[in-house]
Amino acid sequence: MAIVYLGIGSNTGDRRANIEKATALLKEHKDIKVLAVSPLIETEPEGGPPQGKFLNGAIKIDADLMPLDLLTQLKMIERRLGRVKAEPNAPRPMDLDILFYDDIVIVKGKSLTIPHPRLAERLFVLKPLFEIAPHLVHPRLNKSIKELMEALLPHEGSQRFQSA
Ligand code: ADP
Ligand code: MG
Repeated sequence: MAIVYLGIGSNTGDRRANIEKATALLKEHKDIKVLAVSPLIETEPEGGPPQGKFLNGAIKIDADLMPLDLLTQLKMIERRLGRVKAEPNAPRPMDLDILFYDDIVIVKGKSLTIPHPRLAERLFVLKPLFEIAPHLVHPRLNKSIKELMEALLPHEGSQRFQSA
């Protein structure tokens, strides 16, 4: 079993319903136990074509799946929620990313990098994660989620955000 943190996001359709449906599919999965779900925040899209705002959250799970098998299961859930295009930064009804998988560090070309390569630059990932794992330490950067977040928000510290 592995403790895994997932990032979840949606910016098309009924975003909250999409996130609730994907969370329900994770809960129903025989090899996954959902341990915590963060509040959701509304965020501006970063990059890509003009598109609607996202709802973003973070989920802690216990997974009885190897990293690539977990990624396959997450992609199946994305497709069940109607995701068709795979381009980065495109609008999507569902995005599920592996942020951390225990404290492993893996790089498999473009197909899988853990910890997620862009998480330390993304407040939309760090803020919800902070709500469920403020003291979790990034195994490559050796900084906690709180420290990573404060590095991007030097004047606000780690004030709690308003959930959407
Ligand atoms: P992003 O989530 O950064 O906006 P995409 O969802 O479009 O980008 O990226 C999808 C691709 O990223 C997937 O096909 C997957 O193979 C790859 N990928 C690499 N590392 C990870 C990870 N840690 N979690 C999820 N997908 C990853
Ligand atoms: Mg993704």
